[in-house]
Amino acid sequence: MNQTKPTICIIGGGPTGLFAAQHLASTGQMDVHVFEQKASVGRKFLIAGRGGLNLTHSEDINPFLNRYGPAKDFLEKHIQAFTPDQVIEWANELGVETFVGSSGRVFPKEMKATGLMRAWTKHLTSLGVQFHLQHSFVGIDEENQILFRDKEGDGYAVKPDVVLYAMGGASYPHLGSTGRWVNKISAKGIEVAPLIPVNCGYELEWSEHMLPRFAGEPIKNITLTADGLTGTGDMIVTEYGLEGGALYAVSQTLSRAFADDKPMTMTLNLRPHLSQEQIKEKLEQPRGKLTLTNFLRKKMKLTALEIALIHELADRSKLFNVNYLSNIIQNLPVEFTAPRPITRAISSMGGIDLDELDENLMLTSQPGWFAAGEMLNWDAPTGGYLLQGCFSTGKAAAVGIENWLASNVT
Ligand SMILES: Cc1cc2nc3c(=O)[nH]c(=O)nc-3n(C[C@H](O)[C@H](O)[C@H](O)COP(=O)(O)OP(=O)(O)OC[C@H]3O[C@@H](n4cnc5c(N)ncnc54)[C@H](O)[C@@H]3O)c2cc1C
Repeated sequence: MNQTKPTICIIGGGPTGLFAAQHLASTGQMDVHVFEQKASVGRKFLIAGRGGLNLTHSEDINPFLNRYGPAKDFLEKHIQAFTPDQVIEWANELGVETFVGSSGRVFPKEMKATGLMRAWTKHLTSLGVQFHLQHSFVGIDEENQILFRDKEGDGYAVKPDVVLYAMGGASYPHLGSTGRWVNKISAKGIEVAPLIPVNCGYELEWSEHMLPRFAGEPIKNITLTADGLTGTGDMIVTEYGLEGGALYAVSQTLSRAFADDKPMTMTLNLRPHLSQEQIKEKLEQPRGKLTLTNFLRKKMKLTALEIALIHELADRSKLFNVNYLSNIIQNLPVEFTAPRPITRAISSMGGIDLDELDENLMLTSQPGWFAAGEMLNWDAPTGGYLLQGCFSTGKAAAVGIENWLASNVT
């Protein structure tokens, strides 16, 4: 490593680490090294691109910040300092045009991450960022040297001026974010909350009637509630239970409840745009010779799947009571048995306790060590909020590193 400039060791080549690397290398004042255990950087970012790469969201900043729930207090300052508009500018500067989808989400025009990733790594290389691929962080020794293992399996230690930990969470571990850092970091006395799945599907024991007919079918335009959180949109019936965007919006509450060993009931509203009175009025029409299923299909315009869900999740013995039926159409109780494994979750909750950090994202017990991105204990729903949180905290840590070096390293 070049000894004339301070050396920065960024561990983790995901969007957080790369974003910090870009800011630090562009100062021209630092020797910036990115250590990445996979053979290329940004693998999860590239997979996120398969769903279109939702970079951020276009809504006003106040509702935007409210999406972070309890993490808003921590993230607000960092997002105000590097906003969704600045994420769009950043992509544009790399030659990638973006557009706002009908849901307000922001995507690259090509709806994938490959072009952006290619332009980004090229730019980082031109700034002098040095990549150490297939180099895994394996621990920290007693003298606070950072221990790595290279692709040949040989171990070595480095003692840079600054370390930025950006190793992500533990979802989709085959892409590199294995969460194996947890024990190494907590061994240094740093508080780390266990990593648990979030923005994931949940398991449910379907009866034998459901799956052959409905596996893979969407339940559309619904509202879900779980302990005050609300999700709207669609979800899909899967062989293990349910999955999809509306569910991800209540996922923080559901996953936390499972982690506390207090699973909670989620409520499914199949007709959120109707009032109870409107539903009752429809249900009070004469049924004639129609079976209940045909009556619900004709008069309530419920789909075969929605009717099957009512049979599956409601108390069947009460379905002929209009008051019960009208209520249950808007309040179907869904009792999950477990979240999907973390390996199948979009993101993880847990990570380095936010109280361990100062306002520049430096670990207060270890001056010169910074941390950012999904490795920290904040979480967010899908919709571009995760990447925005990673970009903004990556930038905040980089600015923090610059300031700390200015006052601590001569
Ligand atoms: C299928 C999928 C789709 C997604 N879609 C979106 C989306 O559209 N919009 C959105 O906002 N978010 C999305 N996300 C979430 C988003 O990708 C993550 O929140 C984000 O990538 C986290 O960034 P990060 O840099 O903090 O961590 P990561 O992207 O996880 O990067 C961490 C890096 O550190 C490396 N690493 C880990 N351990 C070590 C070690 N011991 N030594 C060296 N290197 C190590 C990993 O290999 C990895 O490259 C999606 C996630 C998934 C799984």
